[in-house]
Amino acid sequence: MPLNKENSIENRKEESKKVNYSLIPPFPKEFLIDITSLCNHTCTFCSNRKMSNKKHAEPSLVYKILEEAKNEGAKSVGLYATGEPFLNKELESYIKFSKKIGYDYVYITTNGAACTPKRMETAINNGLDSLKFSIHGGTSETYNKIHGKNDFERVIKNLKWVDEYRKKNNKDLKIYVTMVETHENKSEVEKLKEIVLPYIDGWDPHLMNNSCGTMPENNEIGKIEENNIRGRNHSGVCFQPFGSFTITAEGYLSGCVLDYHKALVIGDCNKSSLKDIWQSKIYQNWRKRHLEDKTKGYICYNCIYNKTESYDSIIPGTLEIPVE
Ligand code: SF4
Repeated sequence: MPLNKENSIENRKEESKKVNYSLIPPFPKEFLIDITSLCNHTCTFCSNRKMSNKKHAEPSLVYKILEEAKNEGAKSVGLYATGEPFLNKELESYIKFSKKIGYDYVYITTNGAACTPKRMETAINNGLDSLKFSIHGGTSETYNKIHGKNDFERVIKNLKWVDEYRKKNNKDLKIYVTMVETHENKSEVEKLKEIVLPYIDGWDPHLMNNSCGTMPENNEIGKIEENNIRGRNHSGVCFQPFGSFTITAEGYLSGCVLDYHKALVIGDCNKSSLKDIWQSKIYQNWRKRHLEDKTKGYICYNCIYNKTESYDSIIPGTLEIPVE
């Protein structure tokens, strides 16, 4: 299947780098909604397992956000953030609605274990543009150790099924695989690539990070790279507060996709409009802190400098203390 160049993952990444580093940047073209913060896996490096109060987002809120963001100029939406999107039975309806109201690109990242061919078929026929599988091992044994569930065979079977389905039915769906490299799985990177490459459009490995300082133990289980935007000694300015946002399952607008513990909540979409929050004084002050490298006392400091210092939320009272 020819890859549509306009929507290739490389092009989309290049686009996302075109960030306007001003105090009130234009409304983002792309954002994420965490339709559920529940997850069926417990990956060793992921802060999801330390989240409290996991839940599905209220459907009325999801529809409201999708419509509002579209009216403000958003073109792409990711229907996931901290959880596994296929655990939410509304996923396929959200995809359908997003495409109906005109989003150009609707995508998800999944561990590929909670879905069935029937559900994937509906998701694709409802207009899903890309599906990224997170697979962190090249054998059942390692996969089990990292994901906490023995779903390797099932996931590979689902991946192959999607590829076959799209080819048979001439669907313009992109399939990607991402892998977070740890000490435990690094000898299996080539093995996994060999298994998945015949079925996918792109291999999209992710660098290890400390999940904003909430997973300092990740320094033990993998290597946190220098100059990783989510790692130590990153010298530039993080793009997140300027180029995108994430709606949490509670309906908060958070300044970062990695905000597992609501430390970067800027506003409540149940009470305020997206535009008002995007342009708010709180967000402007937060962006100023990033531009002036004054994030000490906030989770971004831990993220940028790979520290474990105590932090508070931007808005008092939203912070959830990680469950150890
Ligand atoms: S936690 Fe802060 S510095 Fe790290 S990626 Fe998110 S917004 Fe950027």
